[in-house]
Order: sequence, then structure tokens, then C-alpha cells
Amino acid sequence: MSVISRDLRALVEEQLKYTLCVSLNKATNGDVFNAVALAVRYFQQDQFLGSQARQRAEKKKRVYYLSMEFLLGQSLRNNLMNMNLLNDMRQAVNELGFDFDNILDEEPDAALGNGGLGRLAACFIDSMATLDIAASGHGIKYEYGLFRQSFQNEQQIEHPDDWHSMHSPWLVEHHTQPMLIPIGGYIEHADDVNGNYNPMWLGWNTIVGIPNDYFVSGYRGSTTNKLRLYSAVASNSFNIHIFNRGDYIKAVSEKIASENISKILYPSDEILTGKELRLTQEYFLVACTLRDIFREYAETEADISLLPQHVAIQLNDTHPALAVVELMRMLVDEYSLPWPQAWEITQKTCAYTNHTLMPEALETWPVALFEKLLPRHLQIIFEINHRFLDDVATRWPDRPHLLTSLSLFAGDKDKHIRMANLAIVGSHCVNGVAMLHSELIKTHLVPDFYFITPEKFINQTNGVTPRRWLQQANPNLAAFLNQQLGARWPTDLHLLRQLEKKADDAGVVDQIRAIKFKNKSALSQIVSQHYGVTLDPMAMFDCQVKRIHEYKRQLLNILHVIALYLDIKENGKTIAPKVHLFAGKAAPGYRMAKLIIQLINTVAKKINSDPRIAGQLKVVFLEDYKVSLAESIIPATDLSEQISTAGTEASGTSNMKFALNGALTIGTYDGANIEIREAVGKDNFYLFGATAEEITKSRREGNNNLLYHHGNPQIAHIVDALISGVFTPDHDLFAPLHHMLTAADNYCHLLDFESYCQTQQQAMADFEHPRQWHRKALLNISRMGEFSSDRTIQGYAKDIWGINC
Ligand SMILES: *Cc1c(COP(=O)(O)O)cnc(C)c1O
Repeated sequence: MSVISRDLRALVEEQLKYTLCVSLNKATNGDVFNAVALAVRYFQQDQFLGSQARQRAEKKKRVYYLSMEFLLGQSLRNNLMNMNLLNDMRQAVNELGFDFDNILDEEPDAALGNGGLGRLAACFIDSMATLDIAASGHGIKYEYGLFRQSFQNEQQIEHPDDWHSMHSPWLVEHHTQPMLIPIGGYIEHADDVNGNYNPMWLGWNTIVGIPNDYFVSGYRGSTTNKLRLYSAVASNSFNIHIFNRGDYIKAVSEKIASENISKILYPSDEILTGKELRLTQEYFLVACTLRDIFREYAETEADISLLPQHVAIQLNDTHPALAVVELMRMLVDEYSLPWPQAWEITQKTCAYTNHTLMPEALETWPVALFEKLLPRHLQIIFEINHRFLDDVATRWPDRPHLLTSLSLFAGDKDKHIRMANLAIVGSHCVNGVAMLHSELIKTHLVPDFYFITPEKFINQTNGVTPRRWLQQANPNLAAFLNQQLGARWPTDLHLLRQLEKKADDAGVVDQIRAIKFKNKSALSQIVSQHYGVTLDPMAMFDCQVKRIHEYKRQLLNILHVIALYLDIKENGKTIAPKVHLFAGKAAPGYRMAKLIIQLINTVAKKINSDPRIAGQLKVVFLEDYKVSLAESIIPATDLSEQISTAGTEASGTSNMKFALNGALTIGTYDGANIEIREAVGKDNFYLFGATAEEITKSRREGNNNLLYHHGNPQIAHIVDALISGVFTPDHDLFAPLHHMLTAADNYCHLLDFESYCQTQQQAMADFEHPRQWHRKALLNISRMGEFSSDRTIQGYAKDIWGINC
């Protein structure tokens, strides 16, 4: 028994006994999981306090990463691996008489995010700690994370995710550091002693924010940072007036209402809800974080004018854009700085990452809502806008149209605040998340901002952390890489390049193939246990796992599956075994997305139960997509579906996870697909479909549906299968999808359909030559080094935050 594992075992026993008060012989797997996590946290806290002291002594610049979402998934394996305690802890737990893998499985995913944006934030905090950056993530401790999904009658059912009901062992709650956040009230217009306008924000209520710290340990390093998640509680003095009037029940119910702020994550991805509670959440995050920033700042520095030298605030999308306004409010109202100086500090401190090109997903909020919740902030936004537009009018007197497009306000009567404009004006840097996306921001999304301040706009292509997405998700491949390349690749992913020399070594290629086979067998086990569908691990595994959205075009994928099915059934064609896997959640109010899920499930049921198809096609929609499920699917994939309409997917990150794990991509010329293809080589990537420019043209000319009406009758036959009774006797059920495809298709499914089918044919033919296929898989792995989130964070550090690392 190693010394460390003996110590670990004692520590776990101690946590069981003294923290959880459970005796070893009565302990459940859940108890042991908690005790193990608490034991790990013990080390993390030690390291955290050490890191803090060191960072303070070195006066390191601090990065505050603000995000409404952190899609963390499970943490135990990740923390143990990063701290190099995995094997010792495995031994310790086994010696206590428990199966370590079962203990790992006990951990619920922390699903405090919807999809790519939240997962990016999680990869970034891992990379920042690994790169020894003095950084913290700031978010909300939602009591209910993203809903859990199940299927009933082929339809999505949502269930509450009370991930925290057992009290996550990873979080340390700081009740002694409450933050008092004012909200509501009114403005009293007044003058100060010198006769200057000095408005007073009065009559507000108080929300209390409680910080909860989750420790983020860098990979094998000395740095442990924190992710700080705020929960809302009502203050005792909450609306004292109602108490005084004797309306006790009303007062208590208002108290409860203020605790709702951190109750639930809004479950929509890339679509807006416009709900008051959501705006309150965004303000709550920003207000809590800024109080933390000022408190930490005061510990090492007195001169507030030096803030941009010591602090960087990164806004993950516009959700935390109010940070610009709250920072101004604190500098002007509380530190009494003159406006121009406060504004310079604010701009130099803040930076904004844009995540979307779809105008309908750009946040706006009604002015009336601001008036009610944040009257002082509204005043400040008016003032920012006024000064900004005055300046624009002076500098470009001959371009009056700029005043409309650049304004922080939209509309005449029902005025709205444009959060993207606010974020851009208040930041020194605006970045897109893939090369194409960053170009389209400049040329299509906000060209007038680019015209007035071209120097603000830069690119930082997304990445994923190789610790979670390769080392942990794919231990078989990781062991192979250790053996081939040594153990340094997890923090220096460019080392994967050395694998390229082995591309023509049949023995090495066969090993890649054997690893994939093993991963596919493991996934087949899960699928057969949960769904009763038997998969052949020799078949091609073709996977599309991501949020369900029209722009991501799961519908294009299933149309191709329908085409294969009809070809087998009606034309007697035979194909090599192929497995189509889907997973992903639809926003509960997104009717079309939910119908797409129902269609896929309906088609799957028909195909899987048709004896003529057996051995050729299998289709499974896995329930409840989340990080831990992604970790099982991605290493078991042969063909990765990245088929968004060109010009709609800002970057994508699952495309990177798949290629890094040796899947070949079938994808459009969109987002980071373009850079992935460039990196892995054109011959090792299945490109299809229209370019962003061609899509724009087709939309303008209204040609998206021509193929159905005048083109190929085969296409019409396939599309009509949605309403012809092949899959369901209810001809009306999928009529809205049929109508969308044939009459009003903003996402150009049919425009790309033939190209997609042909490219699928090519991939299916190539898969018949396993050596060549897995040679390409090896080349994908070896050339994906630049898609580590370490590279992305080094870019942010150098180009945005002014930090060397
Ligand atoms: C990576 C990831 C995503 C993002 O997937 P895209 O295909 O890039 O949209 C979403 N959800 C989970 C659980 C992920 O791990």
C-alpha cells in the first residue's frame, strides 16, 4: 500500500465519520462519493489558499470571467486526475471495500448551462488554472440546473434537475460574506453641495447574494483557482414597510420571491425569453461579482484609477453586459470619479466575447423593465449613449445613419436596450469565436461598429480542454498516446503531431482501430441496457449530439436516414451496417425542435423494428444529453455530424472534441469546421453544402425550396414521407416540418440535401476500407493540437488581458 493511498484512505474514513456521520459498514456508494469528494476538496483548499497568497504577493493581474452558464459535468475524476491522485484514490477506495468505478458513477452532472457557451466557460476555467493565471469564474448557483429529459411516446418530457438536493460536496458556502444588492426603487433628482446634478437612487429593496466556491485545480500544477457561484437569499429587512403594516403573509411571500432569483437556469439556448426574472438574474450576477472585484482590489491596491492594470473583466456573451453599467455606477456614484475618467477605466477593464450571428438571438430588454428594476442603471445607459452618439456625430457628420445603427436603444415607442451595442461600446476588445464568425461580425452583424473602431475586433478560435475531452473521456486512447508520445501531451497538445510519422505504420493504425472498437463496444453496452437496441460495434457509428435547433439541422440528418431506409425498403438496396445516434435537448417552448425529436424517435422506432432493415440500419436517440453522456459517445464515434447551415454556427466545440478523438467529420463550411478541415487536411474531412455567401444569396432570391418543387422527384418522395403515413398514420403530425422544408426554410435543408447525401455515400464507401479510414482518424488526432483551450486562453491572455503565460 502506498503512503499516499494509506493517507487518502484515512482521510476518506475521517470524512465519513466526522463530516457525514456514517459508519463504514453502513455507508452507501453515495456516502462514499461524498466522503471521497470532501477528501479531495481538503487538498484543493490547501492549494487554493497557497495560490491566493502567491498571486497576491506577485501582484498578478486578476481575470474575472463572467458567465451565466458553467456546464461542468462531473468533477471527481477530473479533480483526481488533475491533482495526480487518481490511482492512489482508486486503491484507497477499493481497500475500503467499494468499487471505485461505481463511486465515480454516483456523481450527478452539474448542469448549470445549456450547451456550447456554458461548456466553453468550463473548459476555460480549467485552462486558466492550468496556465497559472490568477483567474476566477463567476456565475449563479442555480438550484435547478438544465432540465432532465426523457421520452414518452417519442416526445420530450422535461423533469426538474435538483442536482443540489444532496448538497454538492464541491461547494463551500460563505454565509459570512453576504453581498447586499439593491433593486427596484426610484430616482430622486438632486444637486450636490457644488450645485452639480447628483441623482439619488432611493426606495430599493435588497437582495442578498451568498458566494459558493467551487475549486478549480490546474493540471499537475500548483494553482487552484475558484469558480464563485452566487445564490440569492432574501434579506431579513426585506420590505420592512409591509411587515410594519402588519401584512405578514405578503411580506414573507415577497421574501420568498427574491429567493427565486437563483432558483432555475433558463433552458433556452440561442433563443430569448425576455422574462423579468432573467434580467434580474443577469443583474444579480454582475452586481455580486463587482462587489467581489472591488473588495479583492482593496486588499492589494488603493488607487482605483489603476484598475485596468490589475483587473480584466471578460463577458461571456452579452448576458453579463450590465457589468459595464454597474462598474460605471460604482466609479461615479460611490468613488465619485469624474465621468470621463470612470468611462476610460471601464472600457479598458471590460472585454466582450460574441457568440452568435443570428440577429434574433441578440439580447434586447425593454426600457420600461429597466425603469422598474434598475432606474439608476437606465440613467447611466442614457448618459453613455448620449455621450457616445455625440462623439460619433462630431467625428462622422456626413454619416447620420450611424446614429441609428450604433445607438444603445432600438425602436421609437417600445424602446429596447441593445445589449450587444452596450457590450461593444463599453469594451476595449470584442472577439468572435472562430475565424469565419469573427469576419461575419465585422461584415454582417455590426459593420458600423467595425467602421468606427476596427481595432476593437479580433478573433479567438474556441478550444476544448484535452484533460476532460481526451485524457478522461478516452482512457484507452490516452494510454496509447502516453506510450507513443510520453506524458506531456495533456498540457502541450501540439505534441500530438509526432503521431503523424506513424500514419503509414499498419500496426499503429490497427491500434487506433482497436481502441475505437473498444469504445464502441462500451457504448453499445450502454445502449443495449437502456434502450434494448443491439448495436454492432463493427458498424459505422454516425453521431450528432448537441442542442436541437433548426440551424443545427438534425432534420437534414434524419432526412438522409429516411432516404437510406426507403432505398433499402423500396429498391432492395443493401448497405454496410450503419448506426445513427442522436442526443440533445430542445428548449421546452421551441415547438419545431420538439417536433424534430418526435420525428427522429418515430423514424427510429420504425426502422429498428423492421426485419428487412435489421443488420443494416439502427437509429437511436439517447435521452438526457449531458457532459457525462458526451464523454461516452464522443470516443465511440466514427463520423461526426457538424452540418449547420453555413454562417449560423459561431464556432461549435463538439466538432473539436470528436476530431480529437479520431472521428472524421462530415460538415459544412461553417464555424470552426473550416479551421478543423484546414488543420486535419482536406482529404481527411467530408465537406459538403453551400457556403455562407451562397446561403445568403439563396435566401435573398427565395430559392431554398426550388429543388422540392421543380427538381428531383426522389427528393420530393423522401420529403413527402413525413406526411404520407410511412412512419405514422397521423398525416398531420409532421406537417409543420414538411411545410417548413417546402415553403419557408430559413436554414436551407433541401438546398444542401443532394450534396449531403453524396458526401454520406462517399464516407460510407470509405469506411469499407478500415486501414485507410483509421489512417485518416489518426491524422485527425495528430493534427488537432491547436484546438486545446490552453491555446485559446493564451490568446485571450496575450491579446485581450495583457498577461504573459
Ligand atoms: C461540447 C458540448 C456542447 C456543444 O456542442 P456543439 O455541437 O458545439 O453545439 C453541448 N453540450 C454538451 C454537453 C457538450 O459537451
